Amino acid sequence: MEPLFIYPEYEVVRDEARCIACRVCERQCANEVHYYDERLGKMLADSTKCVNCHRCVCVCPTHALKIRKSDDTYKVNANWENSTINEVYRQAGTGGVLLSSMGNPKPYPVYWDKLLVNASQVTNPSIDPLREPMETTVYLGKKSAKIERDANGRLRDTLAPQLKLSTPIMFSAMSYGSISYNAHESLARAAQELGIYYNTGEGGLHRDFYQYGKNTIVQVASGRFGVFAEYLENNAAIEIKMGQGAKPGIGGHLPGEKISDEVSVTRMIPKGVDAISPAPHHDIYSIEDLRQLIFSLKEATAYKKPVIVKIAAVHNVAAIASGIARSGADIIALDGFRGGTGAAPTRIRDNVGIPIELALAAIDARLRQEGIRDDVSLVVAGSIRSSADLVKAIALGADACYIGTAALLALGCHLCRTCHSGKCNWGIATQRPELVKRLNPDVGYKRLVNLVHAWTHELQEMMGGMGINSVEALRGNRLMLRGVGLTEKELSILGVRHAGE
Ligand code: SF4
Ligand code: SF4
Repeated sequence: MEPLFIYPEYEVVRDEARCIACRVCERQCANEVHYYDERLGKMLADSTKCVNCHRCVCVCPTHALKIRKSDDTYKVNANWENSTINEVYRQAGTGGVLLSSMGNPKPYPVYWDKLLVNASQVTNPSIDPLREPMETTVYLGKKSAKIERDANGRLRDTLAPQLKLSTPIMFSAMSYGSISYNAHESLARAAQELGIYYNTGEGGLHRDFYQYGKNTIVQVASGRFGVFAEYLENNAAIEIKMGQGAKPGIGGHLPGEKISDEVSVTRMIPKGVDAISPAPHHDIYSIEDLRQLIFSLKEATAYKKPVIVKIAAVHNVAAIASGIARSGADIIALDGFRGGTGAAPTRIRDNVGIPIELALAAIDARLRQEGIRDDVSLVVAGSIRSSADLVKAIALGADACYIGTAALLALGCHLCRTCHSGKCNWGIATQRPELVKRLNPDVGYKRLVNLVHAWTHELQEMMGGMGINSVEALRGNRLMLRGVGLTEKELSILGVRHAGE
Protein backbone atom coordinates (compact mmCIF):
# COMPACT_ATOMS: atom_id res chain seq x y z
CA MET A 1 0.00 0.00 0.00
CA GLU A 2 1.18 3.50 -0.80
CA PRO A 3 2.79 4.77 2.42
CA LEU A 4 1.40 7.94 3.90
CA PHE A 5 4.17 10.50 4.18
CA ILE A 6 5.50 10.50 7.70
CA TYR A 7 7.54 13.49 8.71
CA PRO A 8 11.12 12.43 9.63
CA GLU A 9 11.98 12.05 13.28
CA TYR A 10 15.44 13.52 12.74
CA GLU A 11 16.92 16.20 10.54
CA VAL A 12 20.38 16.09 9.02
CA VAL A 13 21.97 19.51 9.31
CA ARG A 14 25.01 20.04 7.06
CA ASP A 15 27.19 23.12 7.41
CA GLU A 16 27.77 23.94 3.75
CA ALA A 17 30.74 26.13 4.61
CA ARG A 18 32.53 23.20 6.21
CA CYS A 19 31.50 20.35 3.90
CA ILE A 20 34.24 19.42 1.41
CA ALA A 21 32.06 16.82 -0.35
CA CYS A 22 34.49 14.03 0.52
CA ARG A 23 31.50 11.62 0.56
CA VAL A 24 32.71 9.81 3.67
CA CYS A 25 29.25 10.12 5.22
CA GLU A 26 27.72 8.59 2.08
CA ARG A 27 30.06 5.58 2.25
CA GLN A 28 29.66 5.13 6.00
CA CYS A 29 25.86 5.28 6.22
CA ALA A 30 24.22 1.87 5.75
CA ASN A 31 20.84 3.62 5.80
CA GLU A 32 21.75 5.53 2.62
CA VAL A 33 20.90 8.93 4.05
CA HIS A 34 23.64 10.94 2.30
CA TYR A 35 24.16 11.29 -1.43
CA TYR A 36 26.01 13.52 -3.84
CA ASP A 37 23.91 15.54 -6.26
CA GLU A 38 25.92 15.87 -9.49
CA ARG A 39 23.69 18.62 -10.84
CA LEU A 40 23.95 20.81 -7.75
CA GLY A 41 27.53 19.72 -7.09
CA LYS A 42 26.93 19.19 -3.40
CA MET A 43 25.97 16.68 -0.74
CA LEU A 44 22.32 16.24 0.15
CA ALA A 45 20.54 14.08 2.71
CA ASP A 46 17.30 12.12 2.86
CA SER A 47 16.34 12.71 6.50
CA THR A 48 13.47 10.22 6.32
CA LYS A 49 16.05 7.41 6.40
CA CYS A 50 18.09 8.76 9.31
CA VAL A 51 18.00 6.70 12.53
CA ASN A 52 20.31 9.04 14.49
CA CYS A 53 23.13 6.54 14.95
CA HIS A 54 25.62 9.42 14.77
CA ARG A 55 28.09 7.49 12.63
CA CYS A 56 28.31 10.29 10.06
CA VAL A 57 28.67 12.95 12.75
CA CYS A 58 31.64 11.06 14.23
CA VAL A 59 33.44 10.28 10.96
CA CYS A 60 32.98 13.61 9.16
CA PRO A 61 36.53 15.02 8.90
CA THR A 62 35.39 18.64 8.99
CA HIS A 63 32.70 18.34 11.67
CA ALA A 64 30.15 19.57 9.17
CA LEU A 65 27.25 17.43 10.38
CA LYS A 66 24.68 17.55 13.13
CA ILE A 67 21.62 15.39 13.62
CA ARG A 68 18.75 17.19 15.23
CA LYS A 69 15.52 15.86 16.61
CA SER A 70 12.89 17.25 14.33
CA ASP A 71 10.83 20.01 15.90
CA ASP A 72 7.98 19.48 13.50
CA THR A 73 4.92 18.06 15.22
CA TYR A 74 1.53 16.78 14.28
CA LYS A 75 -1.34 18.42 16.12
CA VAL A 76 -0.53 16.61 19.33
CA ASN A 77 -2.05 16.68 22.79
CA ALA A 78 -1.29 14.90 26.06
CA ASN A 79 -3.14 11.82 24.82
CA TRP A 80 -2.01 11.67 21.19
CA GLU A 81 1.72 12.22 21.08
CA ASN A 82 3.86 12.37 17.95
CA SER A 83 5.16 8.84 18.34
CA THR A 84 1.67 7.40 18.91
CA ILE A 85 0.32 9.06 15.77
CA ASN A 86 3.38 7.92 13.79
CA GLU A 87 2.89 4.34 14.91
CA VAL A 88 -0.74 4.30 13.79
CA TYR A 89 0.29 5.65 10.37
CA ARG A 90 2.99 2.97 10.06
CA GLN A 91 0.68 0.14 11.03
CA ALA A 92 -2.04 1.37 8.69
CA GLY A 93 0.57 1.24 5.92
CA THR A 94 2.03 -2.19 6.65
CA GLY A 95 -0.64 -4.13 8.56
CA GLY A 96 2.17 -5.55 10.67
CA VAL A 97 3.37 -5.72 14.23
CA LEU A 98 5.73 -2.86 15.10
CA LEU A 99 9.25 -3.99 15.91
CA SER A 100 11.71 -2.18 18.16
CA SER A 101 15.18 -2.69 19.52
CA MET A 102 16.83 -2.07 22.89
CA GLY A 103 14.93 -1.59 26.15
CA ASN A 104 11.65 -0.03 27.19
CA PRO A 105 11.98 3.76 26.70
CA LYS A 106 8.73 4.75 28.46
CA PRO A 107 8.92 6.97 31.53
CA TYR A 108 8.10 4.32 34.13
CA PRO A 109 9.80 4.96 37.47
CA VAL A 110 13.47 4.04 37.65
CA TYR A 111 13.71 2.96 41.26
CA TRP A 112 17.51 2.88 41.21
CA ASP A 113 17.30 6.69 41.00
CA LYS A 114 15.03 6.83 44.04
CA LEU A 115 17.39 4.84 46.23
CA LEU A 116 20.38 6.40 47.95
CA VAL A 117 23.40 4.64 49.42
CA ASN A 118 24.70 5.04 52.95
CA ALA A 119 28.21 6.10 54.04
CA SER A 120 30.03 5.76 57.36
CA GLN A 121 30.87 8.86 59.36
CA VAL A 122 31.94 8.63 63.02
CA THR A 123 31.41 5.10 64.24
CA ASN A 124 31.91 2.04 62.02
CA PRO A 125 34.54 3.94 60.04
CA SER A 126 34.84 3.71 56.30
CA ILE A 127 37.46 1.56 54.63
CA ASP A 128 40.00 2.89 52.17
CA PRO A 129 39.96 0.47 49.22
CA LEU A 130 43.38 1.68 48.06
CA ARG A 131 45.02 0.58 51.29
CA GLU A 132 42.88 -2.23 52.63
CA PRO A 133 41.69 -5.47 51.06
CA MET A 134 38.29 -5.29 49.44
CA GLU A 135 36.77 -8.57 48.29
CA THR A 136 34.81 -8.43 45.06
CA THR A 137 35.03 -12.13 44.19
CA VAL A 138 31.67 -13.86 44.24
CA TYR A 139 30.62 -17.46 43.74
CA LEU A 140 27.33 -18.20 42.04
CA GLY A 141 25.45 -21.40 42.68
CA LYS A 142 23.89 -23.41 45.42
CA LYS A 143 25.60 -22.90 48.80
CA SER A 144 25.78 -25.47 51.58
CA ALA A 145 23.15 -24.89 54.23
CA LYS A 146 25.41 -26.28 56.96
CA ILE A 147 29.00 -27.42 57.44
CA GLU A 148 29.31 -31.19 57.47
CA ARG A 149 32.30 -33.27 58.53
CA ASP A 150 33.06 -36.95 58.07
CA ALA A 151 33.98 -39.38 60.90
CA ASN A 152 37.59 -38.08 60.80
CA GLY A 153 36.51 -34.49 61.17
CA ARG A 154 37.32 -33.63 57.55
CA LEU A 155 35.06 -31.19 55.81
CA ARG A 156 32.65 -32.94 53.46
CA ASP A 157 33.07 -31.32 50.07
CA THR A 158 29.55 -31.61 48.74
CA LEU A 159 29.42 -28.21 47.08
CA ALA A 160 27.36 -27.98 43.93
CA PRO A 161 29.30 -26.62 40.91
CA GLN A 162 29.83 -22.87 41.18
CA LEU A 163 30.76 -19.99 38.92
CA LYS A 164 33.63 -17.90 40.29
CA LEU A 165 33.56 -14.22 39.29
CA SER A 166 36.37 -11.77 40.03
CA THR A 167 33.73 -9.04 40.24
CA PRO A 168 29.91 -9.31 40.39
CA ILE A 169 29.41 -8.38 36.74
CA MET A 170 28.73 -10.60 33.72
CA PHE A 171 27.85 -9.85 30.12
CA SER A 172 24.17 -10.48 29.31
CA ALA A 173 22.93 -13.00 26.80
CA MET A 174 23.45 -11.61 23.30
CA SER A 175 23.28 -14.10 20.48
CA TYR A 176 25.63 -14.42 17.55
CA GLY A 177 23.19 -13.37 14.87
CA SER A 178 21.67 -10.52 16.79
CA ILE A 179 25.21 -9.19 17.31
CA SER A 180 28.19 -9.60 15.04
CA TYR A 181 31.10 -12.03 15.19
CA ASN A 182 33.43 -9.19 16.20
CA ALA A 183 31.12 -8.06 19.00
CA HIS A 184 30.90 -11.65 20.22
CA GLU A 185 34.67 -12.03 20.11
CA SER A 186 35.09 -8.78 22.08
CA LEU A 187 32.75 -10.03 24.81
CA ALA A 188 34.38 -13.46 24.99
CA ARG A 189 37.91 -12.10 25.20
CA ALA A 190 36.95 -9.49 27.79
CA ALA A 191 35.21 -12.12 29.93
CA GLN A 192 38.33 -14.29 29.77
CA GLU A 193 40.66 -11.46 30.74
CA LEU A 194 38.39 -10.26 33.55
CA GLY A 195 37.65 -13.67 35.03
CA ILE A 196 33.91 -13.30 34.48
CA TYR A 197 31.42 -14.73 31.94
CA TYR A 198 29.71 -13.79 28.73
CA ASN A 199 26.54 -15.46 27.49
CA THR A 200 25.79 -16.88 24.02
CA GLY A 201 22.10 -16.06 24.13
CA GLU A 202 19.99 -18.40 22.06
CA GLY A 203 22.15 -18.24 18.95
CA GLY A 204 24.41 -21.24 19.45
CA LEU A 205 28.17 -21.11 19.86
CA HIS A 206 30.45 -20.49 16.90
CA ARG A 207 33.26 -23.06 16.89
CA ASP A 208 35.87 -20.30 16.97
CA PHE A 209 34.65 -19.44 20.47
CA TYR A 210 35.05 -22.90 21.99
CA GLN A 211 38.44 -21.66 23.21
CA TYR A 212 36.63 -19.27 25.61
CA GLY A 213 34.52 -22.10 27.05
CA LYS A 214 35.70 -21.56 30.63
CA ASN A 215 34.18 -18.07 30.50
CA THR A 216 31.08 -18.93 28.48
CA ILE A 217 27.50 -19.42 29.56
CA VAL A 218 25.47 -21.15 26.87
CA GLN A 219 21.74 -20.75 26.57
CA VAL A 220 19.09 -23.38 25.95
CA ALA A 221 16.02 -21.53 24.74
CA SER A 222 12.67 -22.67 23.39
CA GLY A 223 13.97 -22.84 19.80
CA ARG A 224 16.94 -25.03 20.87
CA PHE A 225 19.00 -23.25 18.20
CA GLY A 226 22.53 -24.65 18.01
CA VAL A 227 22.07 -26.99 20.97
CA PHE A 228 24.03 -30.23 20.60
CA ALA A 229 26.57 -32.26 22.57
CA GLU A 230 29.64 -30.06 21.95
CA TYR A 231 27.65 -26.94 22.75
CA LEU A 232 26.75 -28.34 26.14
CA GLU A 233 30.37 -29.27 26.80
CA ASN A 234 32.20 -26.06 25.82
CA ASN A 235 31.00 -23.79 28.60
CA ALA A 236 31.10 -23.07 32.31
CA ALA A 237 27.33 -23.02 32.86
CA ILE A 238 24.07 -23.61 31.02
CA GLU A 239 21.21 -21.12 31.09
CA ILE A 240 17.64 -22.16 30.36
CA LYS A 241 15.86 -19.13 28.97
CA MET A 242 12.25 -19.14 30.11
CA GLY A 243 11.72 -15.42 29.60
CA GLN A 244 13.37 -12.18 28.56
CA GLY A 245 12.74 -8.79 30.16
CA ALA A 246 12.25 -6.93 26.90
CA LYS A 247 9.61 -9.37 25.67
CA PRO A 248 8.08 -11.44 28.48
CA GLY A 249 5.70 -14.16 27.38
CA ILE A 250 6.82 -14.39 23.79
CA GLY A 251 9.64 -16.10 21.92
CA GLY A 252 12.70 -14.66 20.22
CA HIS A 253 12.84 -13.20 16.75
CA LEU A 254 15.90 -12.81 14.56
CA PRO A 255 15.02 -11.23 11.21
CA GLY A 256 16.08 -13.25 8.15
CA GLU A 257 18.43 -10.48 6.92
CA LYS A 258 20.70 -11.29 9.85
CA ILE A 259 20.87 -15.05 9.19
CA SER A 260 24.13 -15.20 7.23
CA ASP A 261 25.96 -18.41 6.23
CA GLU A 262 27.91 -18.54 9.48
CA VAL A 263 24.91 -17.66 11.64
CA SER A 264 22.84 -20.35 9.94
CA VAL A 265 25.54 -22.98 10.56
CA THR A 266 25.94 -21.92 14.20
CA ARG A 267 22.19 -21.90 14.84
CA MET A 268 21.58 -24.98 12.69
CA ILE A 269 18.78 -23.25 10.79
CA PRO A 270 18.28 -22.20 7.14
CA LYS A 271 19.96 -19.07 5.84
CA GLY A 272 17.96 -15.89 5.29
CA VAL A 273 14.76 -17.09 6.97
CA ASP A 274 13.41 -15.42 10.12
CA ALA A 275 14.40 -17.41 13.22
CA ILE A 276 11.41 -17.37 15.53
CA SER A 277 11.70 -19.31 18.75
CA PRO A 278 8.36 -20.36 20.24
CA ALA A 279 6.85 -18.52 23.22
CA PRO A 280 6.91 -21.56 25.52
CA HIS A 281 9.30 -24.48 25.70
CA HIS A 282 7.07 -27.19 24.28
CA ASP A 283 8.23 -29.60 26.97
CA ILE A 284 7.69 -27.28 29.95
CA TYR A 285 4.24 -26.68 31.40
CA SER A 286 5.06 -26.91 35.11
CA ILE A 287 7.87 -26.60 37.64
CA GLU A 288 8.18 -30.41 37.46
CA ASP A 289 8.77 -30.18 33.70
CA LEU A 290 11.37 -27.47 34.26
CA ARG A 291 13.03 -29.70 36.84
CA GLN A 292 13.21 -32.47 34.24
CA LEU A 293 15.01 -30.22 31.77
CA ILE A 294 17.38 -28.95 34.48
CA PHE A 295 18.31 -32.49 35.45
CA SER A 296 18.52 -33.65 31.82
CA LEU A 297 21.12 -30.94 31.26
CA LYS A 298 22.94 -31.81 34.48
CA GLU A 299 22.90 -35.48 33.55
CA ALA A 300 24.20 -34.70 30.05
CA THR A 301 27.10 -32.74 31.56
CA ALA A 302 27.95 -35.14 34.41
CA TYR A 303 26.66 -32.72 37.09
CA LYS A 304 29.74 -30.52 36.54
CA LYS A 305 28.00 -27.33 35.48
CA PRO A 306 25.60 -25.03 37.28
CA VAL A 307 22.26 -24.53 35.57
CA ILE A 308 20.78 -21.05 35.42
CA VAL A 309 17.08 -20.39 34.79
CA LYS A 310 16.41 -16.99 33.26
CA ILE A 311 13.00 -15.41 33.73
CA ALA A 312 11.46 -12.04 33.02
CA ALA A 313 10.26 -9.81 35.86
CA VAL A 314 6.48 -10.25 35.78
CA HIS A 315 3.58 -10.35 38.23
CA ASN A 316 3.95 -13.03 40.94
CA VAL A 317 7.64 -13.30 40.12
CA ALA A 318 8.54 -14.14 43.75
CA ALA A 319 6.36 -17.26 43.69
CA ILE A 320 7.80 -18.25 40.31
CA ALA A 321 11.34 -17.82 41.64
CA SER A 322 10.50 -19.88 44.71
CA GLY A 323 9.39 -22.73 42.44
CA ILE A 324 12.56 -22.42 40.36
CA ALA A 325 14.75 -22.46 43.49
CA ARG A 326 13.07 -25.75 44.44
CA SER A 327 13.39 -27.20 40.95
CA GLY A 328 17.13 -27.81 41.17
CA ALA A 329 18.34 -24.65 39.43
CA ASP A 330 21.61 -23.28 40.80
CA ILE A 331 21.13 -19.69 39.70
CA ILE A 332 18.11 -17.56 38.79
CA ALA A 333 18.69 -14.79 36.27
CA LEU A 334 16.04 -12.11 36.58
CA ASP A 335 15.61 -9.85 33.56
CA GLY A 336 13.81 -6.53 33.83
CA PHE A 337 11.66 -4.70 31.32
CA ARG A 338 14.25 -2.08 30.56
CA GLY A 339 16.59 -4.79 29.30
CA GLY A 340 17.81 -4.51 25.73
CA THR A 341 16.90 -6.71 22.82
CA GLY A 342 17.85 -7.06 19.18
CA ALA A 343 14.20 -7.12 18.17
CA ALA A 344 10.93 -7.10 20.10
CA PRO A 345 7.34 -6.19 19.29
CA THR A 346 7.04 -2.57 20.44
CA ARG A 347 3.76 -3.10 22.30
CA ILE A 348 5.16 -6.01 24.32
CA ARG A 349 8.41 -4.22 25.10
CA ASP A 350 6.65 -1.07 26.27
CA ASN A 351 3.78 -2.56 28.27
CA VAL A 352 4.62 -5.97 29.68
CA GLY A 353 6.55 -6.77 32.86
CA ILE A 354 7.30 -4.99 36.11
CA PRO A 355 10.24 -2.90 37.33
CA ILE A 356 13.27 -5.01 38.10
CA GLU A 357 13.95 -3.34 41.46
CA LEU A 358 10.55 -4.39 42.86
CA ALA A 359 10.88 -7.90 41.41
CA LEU A 360 14.37 -8.37 42.85
CA ALA A 361 13.40 -7.17 46.33
CA ALA A 362 10.28 -9.36 46.32
CA ILE A 363 12.21 -12.48 45.26
CA ASP A 364 15.03 -12.00 47.76
CA ALA A 365 12.53 -11.47 50.58
CA ARG A 366 10.45 -14.49 49.59
CA LEU A 367 13.43 -16.84 49.31
CA ARG A 368 14.68 -15.69 52.73
CA GLN A 369 11.24 -16.14 54.30
CA GLU A 370 11.10 -19.67 52.93
CA GLY A 371 14.64 -20.44 54.12
CA ILE A 372 15.87 -21.29 50.61
CA ARG A 373 17.86 -18.18 49.76
CA ASP A 374 21.15 -20.10 49.78
CA ASP A 375 19.77 -22.80 47.49
CA VAL A 376 20.10 -20.46 44.58
CA SER A 377 22.01 -17.34 43.48
CA LEU A 378 20.26 -14.34 41.98
CA VAL A 379 21.63 -12.51 38.96
CA VAL A 380 19.87 -9.35 37.90
CA ALA A 381 19.72 -7.84 34.43
CA GLY A 382 17.74 -5.18 32.65
CA SER A 383 19.42 -1.81 32.32
CA ILE A 384 22.12 -1.81 34.95
CA ARG A 385 23.55 1.50 33.83
CA SER A 386 26.37 2.19 36.25
CA SER A 387 28.25 0.91 39.28
CA ALA A 388 25.67 2.74 41.42
CA ASP A 389 22.87 0.57 40.00
CA LEU A 390 25.10 -2.45 40.64
CA VAL A 391 25.65 -1.50 44.30
CA LYS A 392 21.93 -0.90 44.82
CA ALA A 393 21.02 -4.20 43.14
CA ILE A 394 23.41 -6.10 45.40
CA ALA A 395 22.06 -4.32 48.48
CA LEU A 396 18.54 -5.31 47.37
CA GLY A 397 19.61 -8.96 47.21
CA ALA A 398 21.41 -9.67 43.93
CA ASP A 399 24.55 -11.83 43.93
CA ALA A 400 25.69 -10.31 40.65
CA CYS A 401 24.41 -8.37 37.65
CA TYR A 402 24.39 -8.98 33.93
CA ILE A 403 25.16 -5.94 31.80
CA GLY A 404 24.05 -5.78 28.16
CA THR A 405 23.29 -2.30 26.89
CA ALA A 406 26.19 -0.81 28.89
CA ALA A 407 28.52 -3.39 27.31
CA LEU A 408 27.27 -2.48 23.84
CA LEU A 409 27.77 1.21 24.58
CA ALA A 410 31.36 0.37 25.53
CA LEU A 411 31.71 -1.23 22.08
CA GLY A 412 30.50 1.94 20.38
CA CYS A 413 26.71 1.55 20.27
CA HIS A 414 24.99 4.93 19.97
CA LEU A 415 21.57 3.63 21.04
CA CYS A 416 19.87 4.39 17.75
CA ARG A 417 17.50 1.50 18.52
CA THR A 418 17.41 -0.03 15.07
CA CYS A 419 19.32 -3.27 15.72
CA HIS A 420 16.47 -5.23 14.09
CA SER A 421 17.25 -3.61 10.74
CA GLY A 422 20.61 -5.40 10.52
CA LYS A 423 22.24 -2.13 9.40
CA CYS A 424 24.15 -1.22 12.54
CA ASN A 425 26.65 1.37 11.41
CA TRP A 426 28.87 0.59 14.39
CA GLY A 427 29.45 -3.04 13.41
CA ILE A 428 27.65 -4.44 16.45
CA ALA A 429 24.10 -5.55 15.60
CA THR A 430 24.78 -6.55 12.01
CA GLN A 431 26.03 -9.43 9.90
CA ARG A 432 27.00 -7.37 6.84
CA PRO A 433 30.74 -7.98 6.43
CA GLU A 434 31.56 -4.39 5.47
CA LEU A 435 29.85 -3.17 8.66
CA VAL A 436 31.11 -5.95 10.96
CA LYS A 437 34.72 -5.01 10.28
CA ARG A 438 34.11 -1.51 11.63
CA LEU A 439 34.28 -3.01 15.12
CA ASN A 440 37.83 -4.04 15.85
CA PRO A 441 37.73 -6.79 18.52
CA ASP A 442 41.23 -5.82 19.71
CA VAL A 443 39.83 -2.42 20.63
CA GLY A 444 36.38 -3.67 21.63
CA TYR A 445 37.55 -6.14 24.22
CA LYS A 446 39.88 -3.59 25.83
CA ARG A 447 37.05 -1.08 26.15
CA LEU A 448 34.90 -3.75 27.85
CA VAL A 449 37.76 -4.60 30.21
CA ASN A 450 38.17 -0.90 31.01
CA LEU A 451 34.46 -0.50 31.72
CA VAL A 452 34.33 -3.43 34.12
CA HIS A 453 37.54 -2.32 35.84
CA ALA A 454 36.12 1.18 36.28
CA TRP A 455 32.86 -0.13 37.74
CA THR A 456 34.74 -2.47 40.04
CA HIS A 457 36.83 0.43 41.38
CA GLU A 458 33.67 2.42 42.00
CA LEU A 459 32.01 -0.57 43.63
CA GLN A 460 34.99 -0.88 45.99
CA GLU A 461 34.87 2.83 46.78
CA MET A 462 31.18 2.74 47.59
CA MET A 463 31.52 -0.41 49.68
CA GLY A 464 34.47 1.15 51.49
CA GLY A 465 32.41 4.25 52.15
CA MET A 466 29.79 2.08 53.81
CA GLY A 467 32.44 0.36 55.92
CA ILE A 468 31.84 -2.89 54.06
CA ASN A 469 34.78 -4.90 52.74
CA SER A 470 33.13 -7.62 50.67
CA VAL A 471 30.35 -7.99 48.16
CA GLU A 472 29.05 -10.88 50.23
CA ALA A 473 28.50 -8.50 53.18
CA LEU A 474 26.68 -6.01 50.98
CA ARG A 475 24.34 -8.61 49.47
CA GLY A 476 20.79 -8.07 50.73
CA ASN A 477 22.00 -5.39 53.19
CA ARG A 478 19.03 -3.09 52.70
CA LEU A 479 19.98 -1.00 55.71
CA MET A 480 22.53 0.54 53.37
CA LEU A 481 19.72 1.97 51.24
CA ARG A 482 17.20 4.75 51.81
CA GLY A 483 14.33 5.73 49.53
CA VAL A 484 13.39 9.20 48.33
CA GLY A 485 10.02 10.16 46.87
CA LEU A 486 8.55 6.68 47.27
CA THR A 487 5.16 5.63 48.62
CA GLU A 488 4.74 3.46 51.70
CA LYS A 489 3.81 0.55 49.45
CA GLU A 490 6.89 0.93 47.28
CA LEU A 491 9.14 1.20 50.35
CA SER A 492 7.52 -1.86 51.85
CA ILE A 493 8.07 -3.97 48.70
CA LEU A 494 11.63 -2.72 48.40
CA GLY A 495 12.17 -3.42 52.11
CA VAL A 496 13.85 -0.05 52.44
CA ARG A 497 13.30 2.85 54.85
CA HIS A 498 12.66 6.40 53.73
CA ALA A 499 15.54 8.85 53.77
CA GLY A 500 15.65 10.57 57.16
CA GLU A 501 14.56 7.44 59.03
S1 SF4 B 1 31.65 13.47 5.68
FE1 SF4 B 1 31.41 15.62 6.24
S2 SF4 B 1 32.75 16.72 4.80
FE2 SF4 B 1 32.49 14.65 3.97
S3 SF4 B 1 30.72 14.86 2.57
FE3 SF4 B 1 29.87 14.21 4.53
S4 SF4 B 1 29.32 16.14 5.56
FE4 SF4 B 1 30.71 16.68 3.87
S1 SF4 C 1 23.79 -1.87 18.47
FE1 SF4 C 1 23.94 -0.62 16.59
S2 SF4 C 1 21.87 -0.67 15.69
FE2 SF4 C 1 21.68 -1.35 17.85
S3 SF4 C 1 21.21 0.52 19.00
FE3 SF4 C 1 23.45 0.26 19.06
S4 SF4 C 1 24.22 1.49 17.34
FE4 SF4 C 1 22.02 1.19 16.99
